[in-house]
Amino acid sequence: ADFTSLGLSDWLILQCKQMGISKPTPVQENCIPAILEGRDCMGCAKTGSGKTAAFVLPVLQKLSEDPYGIFCLVLTPTRELAYQIAEQFRALGKPLGVRDTIIVGGMDMVKQGLDLSKKPHIVVATPGRLADHIRSCNTFSMSKMKFLIMDEADRLLEQGTDFGKDLETILSVVPSKRQTLLFSATLTDTLQELKSIAMNKPFFWES
Ligand code: AMP
Repeated sequence: ADFTSLGLSDWLILQCKQMGISKPTPVQENCIPAILEGRDCMGCAKTGSGKTAAFVLPVLQKLSEDPYGIFCLVLTPTRELAYQIAEQFRALGKPLGVRDTIIVGGMDMVKQGLDLSKKPHIVVATPGRLADHIRSCNTFSMSKMKFLIMDEADRLLEQGTDFGKDLETILSVVPSKRQTLLFSATLTDTLQELKSIAMNKPFFWES
């Protein structure tokens, strides 16, 4: 398969080519069509499998059709991963002028709050810091959000009860009508609970 047959637009395929991405990896081949169809998606994929582009590409395509409000929230376990994900949104979304913001611990809360109030298209966050912003009388809205993505979900869960609490806070301010995508290196039983809390009949892919 190539990216055209997966349903991606020419401008995105051109961006891929410029980054040396010409043939879909298995996680991309399987998950991109389901995401473009509007389904929730649970995919088993490790770092290096192309999983980031498997969600960045369909989100950018949908964003180009309807850019409104904070469009997509990505939750990821570490600051390093947050930067890598934001970088792929910037690189692949260059022709769209995608605006993103990174919300991770150890950085200035006030500046982050201001950045969130400017309605970036994409917010890439570690759950604890984003939940802090939601709890602190913030001035931003995620009520128009179309995509919630949980990246490296197995590692998010390792953050223990804090993650459960933070996720509850986050889910209380995002629309229930949204697409939820979850990627994890392993699809263990503990993820079933996340699935039941946050997802709606996901397309399921495991290599
Ligand atoms: P990830 O698995 O998301 O950490 O991605 C690992 C690396 O693979 C990143 O640097 C991507 O730019 C690159 N990549 C993603 N998809 C493809 C593809 N279809 N072909 C070649 N490289 C890719």
